[in-house]
Amino acid sequence: MTTEQTFVIVGAGLAGAKAAQSLREEGFAGGITLVGAEAERPYERPPLSKGYLLGKEEKAKVYVHDEGWYAENSVELLLGCRVTGLDRAGHQVELDDGRRLGYAKLLLAPGSSPRRLDVPGADLDGVHYLRGLGDSERLREAVGGGGRVVVVGAGWIGLETAAAARGYGCEVTVVEPQPVPLRAALGPEMGAFFAGVHRRQGVDVRLGLGVTGFLGTGRVRAVATGDGGEIPADVVIVGVGVRPCTELAERAGLAVDDGIVVDASLRTEDPDVYAAGDVASAFNPLYGTRIRVEHWANALNGGLAAGRSMLGQKVVYDRPPYFFTDQYDVGMEFSGWFAPGGYDSVVVRGDLEARAFHAFWLSGGRVVAGMHVNQWDEGIAPAQELIRAGVRVDPDRLADPSVPLADLTKG
Ligand SMILES: Cc1cc2nc3c(=O)[nH]c(=O)nc-3n(C[C@H](O)[C@H](O)[C@H](O)COP(=O)(O)OP(=O)(O)OC[C@H]3O[C@@H](n4cnc5c(N)ncnc54)[C@H](O)[C@@H]3O)c2cc1C
Repeated sequence: MTTEQTFVIVGAGLAGAKAAQSLREEGFAGGITLVGAEAERPYERPPLSKGYLLGKEEKAKVYVHDEGWYAENSVELLLGCRVTGLDRAGHQVELDDGRRLGYAKLLLAPGSSPRRLDVPGADLDGVHYLRGLGDSERLREAVGGGGRVVVVGAGWIGLETAAAARGYGCEVTVVEPQPVPLRAALGPEMGAFFAGVHRRQGVDVRLGLGVTGFLGTGRVRAVATGDGGEIPADVVIVGVGVRPCTELAERAGLAVDDGIVVDASLRTEDPDVYAAGDVASAFNPLYGTRIRVEHWANALNGGLAAGRSMLGQKVVYDRPPYFFTDQYDVGMEFSGWFAPGGYDSVVVRGDLEARAFHAFWLSGGRVVAGMHVNQWDEGIAPAQELIRAGVRVDPDRLADPSVPLADLTKG
């Protein structure tokens, strides 16, 4: 296979695997090499903080493709192998074993990695981060027998692992410096809803409180907090966000601004280099701005779109971001986007107390994001239609469950 015919994908996660799939589905007959730093073939991460962590979902279910799929589709899978350099002029990537691979087109899909808390005691045993399968298995081992768990950070990972730890009967405290959970993602109104969900389940949710260190000798025994207090802990879970893996792109002189900068076709300023998934900061025409999305659906759909784009097809990746979560009896889907604080009001349709409702974020009278909790008959599609319609909506009719949501898309 010559370099002219070989496409290389850096990162064997969901975005990388979906790009390889789309290249083959679209009839690409050249070589595809998928390089992944982990030893596992591509898998999906959402179960790692939910069903797999709870021991309810089998390992076999987390993989993106069956083991045989790669050989059947002539996708060369290089696992346990890290790309360490990118030579754009020479159209080559360098691997950590010194090999060089030539490419005609390159997709960067290295994802993101957890932000580390740089505080005293950060390396003590019993302090966990969650990104990979191995992390989830170690955490399951740690919380499976109960005990005292302190979760640092009330973002999605923090709250989902708090729910899983409660599921194992652990005593759980969540510590978060912001006044509500999920403030950046959902804002204060729906952040407060999630605080309530956890308190109802017996989680001690401590807001407006920072962590200053982990205490213990060899193994963590407590978390030190900004108010001078200590919270006893057998296990600590740190979920304080992720950072996109942009180093390769930066060193290769590609534009990076939070993520790797790409246009709506997921192409960088180098016509032969693309980026997708958590790492990409992509121009989204629906919102008229670049957005970096750290969610499953974006890796899935962005990977598929990047494959088509690499083949020269006209691609405009303009989906509203989508996210789902499961915590206790709360199944939720969210779609849309706003900059932190970038909305005027939140309209609730349904019953917050009963944990059965839709919520809509409005800016200038238009729906920019929507979410539902346990409303699976309608799901998230009506919210996405309202976002796409871009029409002004009457908040009273939006809040009224007797008015069909489809009627509101007409403005
Ligand atoms: C525990 C957990 C739960 C989640 N739950 C949800 C959820 O409920 N809903 C939701 O929407 N999203 C969820 N997400 C987010 C979602 O999983 C991510 O958005 C998605 O995994 C991003 O896919 P990706 O392919 O871009 O990156 P990744 O999944 O991070 O895959 C990138 C791969 O590239 C590899 N890599 C990095 N650098 C290199 C290199 N230089 N050379 C070779 N390989 C490299 C990495 O090791 C990794 O295997 C969750 C994430 C986690 C961690």
